[in-house]
Amino acid sequence: MTWYFASVNETIKGAKHYFYDIPDNVRFHFDKFKKRRDEQILRLNGAYERNWNREGIDLVQGTARFIGQKEIEVDLVDGSGKAAYTAKHILIATGGYPIVAENVEGATHGITSDGFFDMEHLPKKIAVVGAGYIAVELAGVLNAIGVEVHMFIRHETFLRQFDPMIQETMTKTYEEAGVIIHKKFPGFKKIERLDGGSALAYDGNSHEKLTEGPSPGKRLKITDSNGEIFEFNELLWAIGRAPQIKDLNLDVAGVQLSKTGHIAVDEFQNTNVEGLYALGDVTGQSELTPVAIAAGRQLGNRLFGPPELKSSRLSYENVPTVVFSHPEVGTVGMTEPEAIGKYGQENIKIYKTKFAAMYFDVFPAEEKSKHPTQYKIICAGPEEKVVGLHILGESSGEMLQGFGVAIKMGATKADFDRCVAIHPTSAEEIVTMR
Ligand code: NAP
Repeated sequence: MTWYFASVNETIKGAKHYFYDIPDNVRFHFDKFKKRRDEQILRLNGAYERNWNREGIDLVQGTARFIGQKEIEVDLVDGSGKAAYTAKHILIATGGYPIVAENVEGATHGITSDGFFDMEHLPKKIAVVGAGYIAVELAGVLNAIGVEVHMFIRHETFLRQFDPMIQETMTKTYEEAGVIIHKKFPGFKKIERLDGGSALAYDGNSHEKLTEGPSPGKRLKITDSNGEIFEFNELLWAIGRAPQIKDLNLDVAGVQLSKTGHIAVDEFQNTNVEGLYALGDVTGQSELTPVAIAAGRQLGNRLFGPPELKSSRLSYENVPTVVFSHPEVGTVGMTEPEAIGKYGQENIKIYKTKFAAMYFDVFPAEEKSKHPTQYKIICAGPEEKVVGLHILGESSGEMLQGFGVAIKMGATKADFDRCVAIHPTSAEEIVTMR
């Protein structure tokens, strides 16, 4: 919804190129939109709860910890005390929480993605620290709606786990769209609050470190490790997430962790303790909501389904994913360096294309060049099996799902070519590449 909010603004700006008389400064009301968005999310939460009721599932709200290998105690949220439960099967799906930088004095004056979604009023100028999904998505949204956005990244490009084509083009596109990117940033040393205001604090229920949360009129003085000083109205930490395991007493249950501190699981989501399972961000396996949902379905099938589903499990290969940046980025399968590493340079073939989507045809040339579309197909072996697809440009999010099905089925480049193009779309370029 927030990404759409920003997209509306971009469409309004583009409308003049389609000869619509639109005033330069169309006003918007972020606070009203935020309220509407929150209502919609509450409605969705309510729908889930009602469905559980219908299925006969009891919802116990509170904070749980292990008090035995197969026994948990819940501190009930309604204040009525504690309740203990034991079960044959226990699933840990507590997710993760956004982290803030260690060893930065005053780091908690900033916000995390949670604070971003609490914002009712937009800051004039924001520092976004990080180079992953969240930094790129939220920087893109804020820039599109007129906030002065400075991104602080440790290397030359962001989205470094993505294909080099995506890293390079998206970093350049953001710069051209007005985001100020501080590359090879050495890290912040100290953050001071200049306005002295008090800010809303999170309750700490789900966070290792309390961040202050947003507040109107916030002024932050930020000193980096080289002694350079910046002033911002907000600072957003988007440097990754950590597993939410601190108060679970996993040692009481005897559950082992992986090297990264996540709950260690096998391919069937089993922990090392029989009857204890884990899935989602708490396991650190591809931190994406639909991955957790899919893993949960498979686990449910395996434990409680008919005999033919007794070895159900989620395959973590070829998971399609989209970054809701501006423009969107979609990716499934291997990056070019990964494919070279696996198959060898001589056994892969790359197809690439680059153009401006038709929507931008009426834009002035200089403006049009700021809106790239780029696609890359990575094929392996003589049969040219598609092992990676990387797309950036308008509507990439909607486009990727169908190609994801084809790639999961083992499609080759010849299969892509056999599919007749849909004209005039951007997606047709994916089935007509030479
Ligand atoms: P992330 O994707 O893991 O990216 C964090 C990046 O920030 C790191 O890769 C690192 O990049 C950089 N970084 C780490 N420590 C830093 C530091 N001290 N200073 C500056 N930069 C630092 O994490 P995220 O963006 O917070 O997102 C968390 C998870 O949520 C992701 O794994 C993602 O899967 C999920 N998510 C998904 C979506 C979606 O599906 N559309 C949307 C939002 C979030 P460098 O190594 O390049 O510096």
